[in-house]
Amino acid sequence: MPLLPSTAAAAAAALPRLRLRLPLPPRHCPQPLAPLRRAPHHSSPHPRLLPLAAALPPPPPEELPPSQATGLVAASQANFMRVIVDAAAPGLEHHRGSDLLCVVRALLKKIRRRVLVGDRVLVGAVDWADRRGMIEDVFERRSEVADPPVANVDRLVVLFSLDQPRPEPATLTRFLVEAESTGIPFVLVFNKAELVDEQTITYWQDRLKSWGYDPLFLSVDQQSGFSALEEMLEGQTTVVVGPSGVGKSSLINALRHNQNISEEDPIHKLLEQNSKWFGEQRVGTVSKKSGKGKHTTRHVSLLPVAGGGFLADTPGFNQPSLLKVTKQSLAETFPEIRKMLKANEPSKCLFNDCVHLGEHGCVVKGDWERYPYYLQMLDEIKIRETIQLRTFGTKREGDVRYKTGIMGVKQAEPRLELKKHRRVSRKKINQSILDEIEDDIDDLEDDYWFDAKRHSRR
Ligand code: GDP
Ligand code: ZN
Repeated sequence: MPLLPSTAAAAAAALPRLRLRLPLPPRHCPQPLAPLRRAPHHSSPHPRLLPLAAALPPPPPEELPPSQATGLVAASQANFMRVIVDAAAPGLEHHRGSDLLCVVRALLKKIRRRVLVGDRVLVGAVDWADRRGMIEDVFERRSEVADPPVANVDRLVVLFSLDQPRPEPATLTRFLVEAESTGIPFVLVFNKAELVDEQTITYWQDRLKSWGYDPLFLSVDQQSGFSALEEMLEGQTTVVVGPSGVGKSSLINALRHNQNISEEDPIHKLLEQNSKWFGEQRVGTVSKKSGKGKHTTRHVSLLPVAGGGFLADTPGFNQPSLLKVTKQSLAETFPEIRKMLKANEPSKCLFNDCVHLGEHGCVVKGDWERYPYYLQMLDEIKIRETIQLRTFGTKREGDVRYKTGIMGVKQAEPRLELKKHRRVSRKKINQSILDEIEDDIDDLEDDYWFDAKRHSRR
């Protein structure tokens, strides 16, 4: 839960004292940092959406001092991030393509500038021998996906299987709506093609065509139907999403092993050095102290593929939250509605803010297959928005619970009565202070560990 202003102040007041107890050695910052812009506290209605990254582009390599580098965040694991170096100071170019284990500078967390896998970052205090560093700033972001949290994504693959499990139109629609809402190009792919006959494939092809999509069909098991997808993904950062069991991990592995990565490619070196580490990504670890594992249960890593591209491995992200979708934007995520609106141009629905319930003066007619899903999702979003506005003046996922209704479509309802929700118990407030302090102690420990390590090498 978000900290209330008073608890944030209390937590902040408690921290300096804690800080004094740790014998932190002075930190070396050879070059003044680029100005950090404070991200607005409530810049986004989405709780997990991230404040804007710095609008600054990376500096030219010749301006980097030997202790700094720029790179790509390839993975996050607990409080650490793996950064693949893409530029270092003159004379240190041979470190390109190698990776640094980094902590994130506490200040970045304080100003709520989240560092995401996929971000390009400035790493400072680099220890080239130990391959460690500290992320000091985040460069401009092209795009971001909130769920899973990945920055600079070029394409999404929405993966389903034709059998085991069979495609469920309601779930399919949910994933498609979520993908549409990101604004990032995506491709719909059906796996396990070898489990069904030609007619089934034609059936889904036609059905999806009527929805406005042109899916690819392949079989990871048979290694068939890959080439179209591979071509599409070359040189791009791709996130594969889809329900569990459809073959996301299998597809990611197959795509990686299909690639012949040349030995000259810096990625090759990285893979050799780190194959074990990347292979371990699926194993979630749990915080020793709290046993909660909150930072680690859903981590993300980018797996390098040939041609400079990356595939995001995102175990645990298989439930579209629809949090970016509003009741106004939902219609835009259905190609059927887009088509109807376009076909009727220049005439429009009578009301500008029409949500297309087929009322008088609405140009969206209800005789299409996914209309019931549209209506149910609209209901879900309306309920969520109402509750969020009433309780917090903002939008939060946790206030709504979902139950499966007719046709397997999830329906939203308030999780708690509104009155109860308004009053935050003292216990809860105390817990959130503890959480915050614990996070900060974690940060301090990272810093301390990091600095101690540096000093021991002197
Ligand atoms: P994920 O949960 O989406 O990551 O799915 P997994 O990659 O773990 O795969 C789920 C199951 O589907 C595993 O047993 C795979 O071996 C199986 N699987 C993956 N691809 C295929 C395929 O093309 N055909 C068949 N028959 N099974 C597949
Ligand atoms: Zn309308």
